Amino acid sequence: MNDRVIPLLDARRAAPIATPGAVASVGPVADGRGRYMRDLRISITDRCNFRCTYCMPKTVFGRDYPFLPRDELLSFEEITRIARIFVAQGVTKIRLTGGEPLLRRNIERLIEMLAAIPGLELTLTTNGSLLAKKAQNLRDAGLQRVTVSLDALDDPTFRKMNDVDFPVAEVLEGIAAAEVAGLGPLKVNMVVKRGTNDHAILPMARHFRSSPANAGHIVRFIEYMDVGSSNGWKLDEVMPSAEVLKLIGDEMPLAAVDPNYPGEVAERWRYLDGGGEIGVISSVTQAFCSSCTRVRLSTDGSLYTCLFATNGHDLRGLLRAGRSDDEIGAALGALWSERTDNYSEQRSAESTSLSTALKKIEMSYIGG
Ligand code: SAM
Ligand code: SF4
Ligand code: SF4
Repeated sequence: MNDRVIPLLDARRAAPIATPGAVASVGPVADGRGRYMRDLRISITDRCNFRCTYCMPKTVFGRDYPFLPRDELLSFEEITRIARIFVAQGVTKIRLTGGEPLLRRNIERLIEMLAAIPGLELTLTTNGSLLAKKAQNLRDAGLQRVTVSLDALDDPTFRKMNDVDFPVAEVLEGIAAAEVAGLGPLKVNMVVKRGTNDHAILPMARHFRSSPANAGHIVRFIEYMDVGSSNGWKLDEVMPSAEVLKLIGDEMPLAAVDPNYPGEVAERWRYLDGGGEIGVISSVTQAFCSSCTRVRLSTDGSLYTCLFATNGHDLRGLLRAGRSDDEIGAALGALWSERTDNYSEQRSAESTSLSTALKKIEMSYIGG
């Protein structure tokens, strides 16, 4: 095993959560910076059939990589129970992620179970490789929308970035199938890495624009982030969103659009000629910690209050120790009220030294 793996294993150890006793959960609570918990991202597998160089580089996630054994994963019943408890704490949206969530066997059954929770927006982020086959079943099970990740439209660049030689045509088939199945409006996520796929920005924008013949999809250009400890992140490989907007806007003029809701992570822009809209997610150059309402649950049931956290909290331990929903809800509320995370703001303030100093958790383990 490559010794770069060791910090990740350490980081996967979650701290036990204190339960305040048999106290009824109190509903939404503000964290230490006045933010409420709204979005829950659940990683349902730490495995993936891609090896995107910025997320699961082969040098670290090789053949002998110790992925989680099956009994460490949260079961569908555990995920659904915890989802209900989160909803009682104010969560209104759940996104299933991974690893590659469509690799989890019988995911349709999990979606059926989650879709039965009243008042919940249920979405999923996927690399699209299995979407052509699964889109209709996912929709039938109650999934509302999907976001598909796609880093380039030209085959050589895409194959190089997914690093498993996966062809772009199959992801495009998946996107088309999702649209037909009614999983729209679709968002397409492109991580921009300077020098690797910045030449693919304009073709992506042109391709997914809407036209009289085609409803189009919303492409979101994401700044390459220093998530985890294995992707060898360097600041000079980040292309600031301002540059992306200039590049696109020079050819296809853009105007800013108001957010759909307070705290929306993507900044929205629309084409002045009516060609739909795009988004930019600028977590490196314009930190949005002040409005961060996200909480993340890892594949093995650890809770992370920040994407860049170094420690999780062992929620699975509470579930398996026979704690009641009220006890777990109260523990979640207490954890959230203590939260003061603002990693991206600190990174901006302290330059990049923070990024390499911390042993952060991997993206594939807690999802995006
Ligand atoms: N496998 C699925 C996929 O790729 O859509 C879901 C999990 S993936 C970890 C979730 C999102 O995180 C994807 O859109 C991916 O592009 C993004 N992502 C992964 N590593 C990233 C990084 N270092 N910087 C920015 N985004 C990243
Ligand atoms: Fe897999 Fe998604 Fe990470 Fe790519 S970004 S390696 S598809 S989990
Ligand atoms: Fe939220 Fe942490 Fe990202 Fe800031 S760095 S926006 S607190 S997840």
